[in-house]
Amino acid sequence: MEVKKIIEDSERYLMHTYNRFPIVLRKGRGMKVWGADGKEYLDFIAGIAVNILGHCHPKVVVAIQKQAQRLLHVSNLYHIEPQIKLAKLLVTHSFADKVFFCNSGAEANEAAIKLARKYSKDHDGHNRYEIIAAKNSFHGRTLATVTATGQEKFQKGFEPLMPGFKHVPFDDIDALNSAINKHTCAVLLEPIQAEGGVRIPKESYFQQVRQLCNEHNLLLILDEVQTGMGRTGKLFAHEHYGITPDIMALAKGLGGGVPIGAMLATEKVAASFQPGTHASTFGGNPLVCAAAIATFETLMEDGFILDHCNRMGAYFQEKLKQIAEALPDKVVNIRGKGLLVGMELPFEGTVLVKSCMDRGMLINCTSGNVLRFAPPLIVEERDIDKLADVLEEVLDKFI
Ligand SMILES: *Cc1c(COP(=O)(O)O)cnc(C)c1O
Repeated sequence: MEVKKIIEDSERYLMHTYNRFPIVLRKGRGMKVWGADGKEYLDFIAGIAVNILGHCHPKVVVAIQKQAQRLLHVSNLYHIEPQIKLAKLLVTHSFADKVFFCNSGAEANEAAIKLARKYSKDHDGHNRYEIIAAKNSFHGRTLATVTATGQEKFQKGFEPLMPGFKHVPFDDIDALNSAINKHTCAVLLEPIQAEGGVRIPKESYFQQVRQLCNEHNLLLILDEVQTGMGRTGKLFAHEHYGITPDIMALAKGLGGGVPIGAMLATEKVAASFQPGTHASTFGGNPLVCAAAIATFETLMEDGFILDHCNRMGAYFQEKLKQIAEALPDKVVNIRGKGLLVGMELPFEGTVLVKSCMDRGMLINCTSGNVLRFAPPLIVEERDIDKLADVLEEVLDKFI
């Protein structure tokens, strides 16, 4: 089908929840994707931090093919082997003792919110239910997670929002401290605010948050939907801060491209979920778990990919800093951890995203003026060099 006709059908049949760019991506391998018109792109957004091993990694593809021939779906009324194996991998490599599987980041946070409330009711009675989250955060689009999200633009029109959420400035321990009262049961934070513009808190912030939570007997919920699975150069971003949460949400990178979410918790907290309290028909389905196992095993092999992610992240920031030095009025600053990198601009960034796309580079702009880069963790220096050339050209010429 002609690209024009495909796009016409897209606009005709799909609800208009996205302002899509006028290209149709049809095929991908590693860092590359190709449009239906044959145009080649380097993918520096990777499905928004999803394709951590690049497009169609052979190990993930083979795992899906094999599982598809064996068993696609059975109910959670029965034990599911790939789900158990994936849970064991997650538990072995994290603070957590137990895992609940779902299908997206919002659902993982939704499960985390429900578990925190339930745990608090079980242990502290009916008056502790409030969750403190951060301004400028992003936790998803369900009614509870959009309420937890500290940005009004995502909430407008959906009022009345869920009761029981409060927002404080991110990276401000005093504000968090002042917001705690006898109704508070948990604190929900992203280790790095990703959608919020790649905001990295002070080194000591999360240690202080952990301490406050301990003092006030609050659960610490970390939303690692975007920062988890190696994105920041450690398996989970909270490892940078030397703390552990009580509950953690994962999704994006977890399945290497298939839709899967997970909510992890310590034994004590997880005990508040019992048969009948929470469930998901598709959660931990054999097909997606097989893909996630292949992704996880490949990511952890020899620690090679995490090391590579750290090296490429440093190289990436260095290249962007060179551009910032060459064009000081056009870049505010560069920040990032591992391969979650942001370039703050003194103007709206969407036009740049389009110019980069025309030149074969897929990037993203978030928070209005922050270019966000979240390439596959297998990105190479030569890919980063090509992006840097294009960025410098478009920043220099077109703005
Ligand atoms: C993307 C994202 C979500 C929402 O995930 P969905 O799979 O789109 O529901 C939640 N939290 C964070 C930090 C995210 O980046």
